[in-house]
Amino acid sequence: MTSPVRADVCIIGAGLVGCASAYQLAKRGADVIVLERGWPGAGSSSGGMGGFRQQFADAVDAELVRASLPIIRELAPEALAPRGYLFVAETEAGMRELADGIEGMRAFGVRVRMVDQRDIAELIPGIVTADLLGGRIGDDDGWGDPRLVLERTVAAARELGARIVERQNVTAIRARDGHVREVESTGFSVVAASVLVACGAWTADVLATCGVEVPIWPYRRQIARAGPFPALRQIPMTIECESGLHFRPRGDDQLFSMPNLTRDGALEKAPTSRGPAAPLIVDPRALSWTRQKAAARHPDFAALRFAESWACYYEMTPDDHPIIGAVPEVEGLFVAAGFSGHGFMQSAAVGACVAELLTDGVSRTVDIGDFSIERFRGARSTFSPSVL
Ligand SMILES: Cc1cc2nc3c(=O)[nH]c(=O)nc-3n(C[C@H](O)[C@H](O)[C@H](O)COP(=O)(O)OP(=O)(O)OC[C@H]3O[C@@H](n4cnc5c(N)ncnc54)[C@H](O)[C@@H]3O)c2cc1C
Repeated sequence: MTSPVRADVCIIGAGLVGCASAYQLAKRGADVIVLERGWPGAGSSSGGMGGFRQQFADAVDAELVRASLPIIRELAPEALAPRGYLFVAETEAGMRELADGIEGMRAFGVRVRMVDQRDIAELIPGIVTADLLGGRIGDDDGWGDPRLVLERTVAAARELGARIVERQNVTAIRARDGHVREVESTGFSVVAASVLVACGAWTADVLATCGVEVPIWPYRRQIARAGPFPALRQIPMTIECESGLHFRPRGDDQLFSMPNLTRDGALEKAPTSRGPAAPLIVDPRALSWTRQKAAARHPDFAALRFAESWACYYEMTPDDHPIIGAVPEVEGLFVAAGFSGHGFMQSAAVGACVAELLTDGVSRTVDIGDFSIERFRGARSTFSPSVL
């Protein structure tokens, strides 16, 4: 039996959240080890759309995004394309939903405006607007490259001395006398004063090994890539409110994010229950739906041929917001997971918040108190639903 490895902080999971936390902790001089069962980005972090927006109903969401952007720009300036994040609506109800939030967002400093058919046609040359009543765009929003951000974050964390160890499946977190003691993985064990669980969609399983329950569960989402469409290289991230279809450029190509279809073929814009996770394979019906929907939205998208498609999990919570902070029943145990589709845009700042919490006992970059696990244990969540 090898003797345990020692560190100030052991982070479980090398996705965007775990690696951003490792980077920020290492920057503050902490001795950090990250245990990852696959490789950095093996979970959801390399599979997302990379959209970022400050258009949220809750100010703290926008604050996390706003605090993330400078950190990302420093690590990977070329990873962000601030070309706008556009919601378009086909119905009065959709338009009302978009317009309702706008004053609130402006009150916390978000540059957001309603747009009409003509504006949309200027933003996306050739788009079919006849069925659209209008939309809403965030001018400081856009999309980025999550893989590049992760790659640079890993490199920066390693440069500062963080150990990111791949192929270490964590099998148990051990606690004694109410204090976290040891993390066991398939290769070795780690003794650390603090343990951060950042396992995305798998966080509940990992925390269950020390008897802690958290309401985080996986929800499959699917993306396909097609192209080239060079004339659309500069368009905003675009989301149809009613159908949930998103598209945005990746180089000359476009990525299409597809909603799930229920067994009887109905559109499922957001998870309806915490049922068992769908396997990570792409549903051919979603590809056909996307071909049809995209063709109706833009003539360049007629007869789309997908070069690749993939599925990965959103890490859902009951109020579509992450759980960030201490686990009260086990001293030294922390969690940062459950980003419900927003983990790319918020993770860089979350890393800073976690590092402040673990080293100074309080997060200053953004007040993360509302993300406490306590909101699901009697206290009430104050957040607005916010999946797309
Ligand atoms: C299709 C799709 C589109 C998305 N689009 C956007 C978007 O436009 N904008 C946005 O902001 N966000 C988006 N997201 C969400 C974003 O990708 C995630 O919120 C984010 O990547 C979560 O990062 P994470 O580090 O928490 O989790 P992950 O990246 O999943 O990392 C968790 C890591 O933990 C590891 N792990 C799990 N169990 C163990 C164990 N027992 N031992 C060791 N390691 C373990 C996993 O292998 C994994 O690498 C999207 C997600 C999906 C699926």
